[in-house]
Amino acid sequence: MSVVILCLSINAHSTEVLDISNIKDKIDLLSHLEYHTIAENDDIYAQTELADERWLAPQGVKGNLGHSDNPAWFRITLTGLDKLKEQTYIRLNYPHHDYIDVYYLQQDNVIKHFQGGDQRIFSERPIDLRIYLFPITATAANPASIDVYIRVASPGPLMMPLDIITYPKAADDERSMYLWGGAYFGIMAIMLIYNTFIWVATRDFTYFLYLVYLTAAGALQFALFGFGFKYLWPDNPGFNNEVIIFLTPFMQLTAVIFVLKFVDIENTGTKLDKAIGVTLFILVTLLTIVSLSLPYATVLTLGHIIGLSAVTAGIYIGIKGWMRGVKAARIFTIAWLANLIFIAWYLFDITGMVNATVIGGQGIAIGSIVELALLSIAFADKINQEKELRISTQQELLEVQLDTNIKLDNKVRERTQELEAVNEQLARLSITDPLTSLYNRRHFDKVYIDNYYEAFRYKKSIAILMIDIDHFKRLNDLNGHAFGDLCLIKAAQLIRGNIHRPTDLVARYGGEEFIVMLPDTVITDALNIAESIRKAFVSTIVSEGRHSEAMTVSIGVHAEIPIDRENWEKLLKDADDLLYQAKNNGRNQVAIAS
Ligand code: GH3
Ligand code: MG
Ligand code: MG
Repeated sequence: MSVVILCLSINAHSTEVLDISNIKDKIDLLSHLEYHTIAENDDIYAQTELADERWLAPQGVKGNLGHSDNPAWFRITLTGLDKLKEQTYIRLNYPHHDYIDVYYLQQDNVIKHFQGGDQRIFSERPIDLRIYLFPITATAANPASIDVYIRVASPGPLMMPLDIITYPKAADDERSMYLWGGAYFGIMAIMLIYNTFIWVATRDFTYFLYLVYLTAAGALQFALFGFGFKYLWPDNPGFNNEVIIFLTPFMQLTAVIFVLKFVDIENTGTKLDKAIGVTLFILVTLLTIVSLSLPYATVLTLGHIIGLSAVTAGIYIGIKGWMRGVKAARIFTIAWLANLIFIAWYLFDITGMVNATVIGGQGIAIGSIVELALLSIAFADKINQEKELRISTQQELLEVQLDTNIKLDNKVRERTQELEAVNEQLARLSITDPLTSLYNRRHFDKVYIDNYYEAFRYKKSIAILMIDIDHFKRLNDLNGHAFGDLCLIKAAQLIRGNIHRPTDLVARYGGEEFIVMLPDTVITDALNIAESIRKAFVSTIVSEGRHSEAMTVSIGVHAEIPIDRENWEKLLKDADDLLYQAKNNGRNQVAIAS
């Protein structure tokens, strides 16, 4: 594009003159303007009389003149308006200044005055757009050359992306802006809906916080794009500033709350982490509360400082989690890093440290959407991890339960075995004589009756030996009870030593009285056994310490083939009678029925 700049001296003025007749698409205007921010006499006619040297050339300034408490005035002379082939405009590609006044002058007379700015209702601007277009095409009423004065009053940064632009180019730019904006808010809406579903499904409060953060970020961007003023509150001038000034710290507050909950700072954070978290929380809460009563520029500056600190803290928390091996922390870290990079890019862009690009200019929007999308993924990852943890915990629990069951089973089995052993022992004890370890009388009676019945059924002889130690009372008296016990033990051994068949049964029947049952045994055999027992006693001397005694026994022996099944007592009585007989006959002998 070829732009001819002429420096002419018109009357008292030495305004820069820009011939725009050969415009193709657009011409940057800011670099050709002169400007000042002098407070005195803030009136259009006062500007025409201001000395030339008070006007400055914005050398090196790329779109942002910084903050100014006073209104800024800009001026330029445009020529060649009559040779324009298309509708052409002065464009201020920034929606947020409070008051914008554009004056066209000819011979120091205002011939046109356009108004704009978000402290005036939307319909006051000449073209119905979220940004500003001021028509300059010459008409029958418009001259070919005009002096342009622009007054901008704004509490925010003096962003002045000014250019002269043709209608097709302006329309094209705005269309692509809508395309990008549509994509941005489309993605936001999808994430909002999708994550709302997940929140409803999971009832996870952290998700709700994420939704609030998402909504706040989206709403702030909606206002920053200029859509809010155009579509939602065109008749509420001033509200735009309040929305932005409130949403800037509020969005940060929702982000801080969300992150603190997301990383579970309460349970996983160190003291330092918690201190950082609480500090940020308090700062953004305070800033949110006082935002509407502080100057616009102060809130934005504080907001940017806290925002950058918060994003840095987010990265710090993320890296810590990453190092701890939390999988979701990786995506979380990248999310905040991406946000930081885009914010930095945006800041470099608006301060002119890098070449202005669409991506840089929309850095905050792009950074926030990349961040929010990555956080959404991190969230899904976290939920997945928690699910895995839950499953593995359940598995572990199941294993522990199984293990406990097995242990319990073993213990029960062990106890049962012990109990059975004790029972067995008890059973054995209940049928055993403790001194001699022979069966006791109770057991003998039971087994004897069974054998008696069997002998009755099979018509077999059954024999009984009734054995009593002779003069045992005297033995006891002479040697003491303990020695007597020893003798009883020895007597039991002597008797058992002569009984061989497994079906035979020896029992202690009374104090020093023993009984032997010999099933399937005739009287002669029983007699032999009795005789061998008697002899065993005769040939045995029991000694212990200074005690030494020989014992003799008297034995009554009887055998019969039972003829009366129920009269089992008779056999016992017969044997007992015979024992009596042996005693009476002089002891140390065996008696049988004659
Ligand atoms: P006999 O020749 O007439 O059988 O005379 P005896 O003294 O053996 O008979 P008696 O029935 O008069 O006395 C039995 C004695 O056996 C009485 C009691 O002191 C003793 N005695 C009974 N049971 C036990 C015991 O378990 N241990 C000891 N040391 N002595 C016992
Ligand atoms: Mg006796
Ligand atoms: Mg006796």
